[in-house]
Amino acid sequence: MDPTCSEVMKRCQEGWPDLCHLTGEVRKFWPERAVLTVHDGLLLKGSRLVIPSAMRHTVLKKLHEGHQGLARCRLRARDSVWWPGLSGQIKELVQICATCIKERVNPTEVLMPSDFPSRPWLKLGADLFSIHGSTYLLTVGYFSRFVEIAKLTPARSDDVIVHLKSMFSQHGIPEFLFSDNGPQFSSQTFASFAADYGFSHITSSPRFAQSNGEAERHVQTVKHLLSKAKDPYLAMLAYRTTPLPNGYSPAQLLMGRRLRTPIPQHHSLLIPSLPDFTTVAAKEKEIREKQAASYNIRHRARQLSHLSSGQRVWITDTKTEGTVVASHSAPRSYWVESPQGTIRRNRRHLVPMASTEPCAESFPETGDQTEEGEHSPESSTAQTVKTPMEYKTRSGRTVVRPKRLDL
Ligand SMILES: [Zn+2]
Repeated sequence: MDPTCSEVMKRCQEGWPDLCHLTGEVRKFWPERAVLTVHDGLLLKGSRLVIPSAMRHTVLKKLHEGHQGLARCRLRARDSVWWPGLSGQIKELVQICATCIKERVNPTEVLMPSDFPSRPWLKLGADLFSIHGSTYLLTVGYFSRFVEIAKLTPARSDDVIVHLKSMFSQHGIPEFLFSDNGPQFSSQTFASFAADYGFSHITSSPRFAQSNGEAERHVQTVKHLLSKAKDPYLAMLAYRTTPLPNGYSPAQLLMGRRLRTPIPQHHSLLIPSLPDFTTVAAKEKEIREKQAASYNIRHRARQLSHLSSGQRVWITDTKTEGTVVASHSAPRSYWVESPQGTIRRNRRHLVPMASTEPCAESFPETGDQTEEGEHSPESSTAQTVKTPMEYKTRSGRTVVRPKRLDL
């Protein structure tokens, strides 16, 4: 018999007269004394068996059989066994379990409100898209949201470069050009073009094209326009002359004037007048912060920890292990040594091995988050009490409905 358990059983029979005389492990049982009982030579906490220390490791592994997540392992424990510190040990086990790490999905990363450039045509996004059997190059100014498109015949790197040169000849050369890693943008010819024209070319992490989001979003907008339009040129003119949420149209933001359209307008409106850039910047900041906040709530986004070089990671898309070599200059992007060689991945695709990174399942929406132990309200009942306020989701997570005012 475990000496601690024997001691605790003795104390139970004595009615726990005094805390001062308790030493070591036995002290940890003191807060639970009200629900500790002895039945047929077994020590119980409520209806849960108190497991002697020699057996805890085995029982812990059994609780995690089937590799269920943290919340479910704790639920299993609440239905059967207990010892001091059990909840923390379950958490530790689930977080370092190699099998679980390989199945873990990183929570959605917190959306960073994108910076609004200080002037037009400073930052440009580029992307390719296909519609009606043709491939097009699209560029969009981050400041103005002014979109340019050009048909590519064929869609080689050289053709993309020619059309970009044409666009730059009209609006000037941007300082930064953002694109994905498509072959047209990752070629040596394109790198030489960027060097010749003197702009920085920034590519998104492979398999994480969201970081080229501005261009991607506008591809969708333009595709919608072109798929419905009888005259694609008038459709593009309509887009370029429609005010954005900041109050100015892309044409006004880029060119400092309204463009004449088939809609009748007083001629005075067509006289160039520069937008108030300070007001635009303030409005944009407000819009972006609101969008980021609502995205973060909608996706229950969380800040993922920074990875340091040498850290072992599980690469979720290639399903292989790797070692972080270094951070990439782009935010949340890393160089990782993997069986496929050194690859670049966004933090979203990297799960630290043996880490304390929270997994999605570790965060039940509400309820059942109480750290089991001395002061948990459940200690006195020792079992999860099901009330009509609770229900289970399809994944088995217990959700507690908020208590409304009952007037
Ligand atoms: Zn596991």
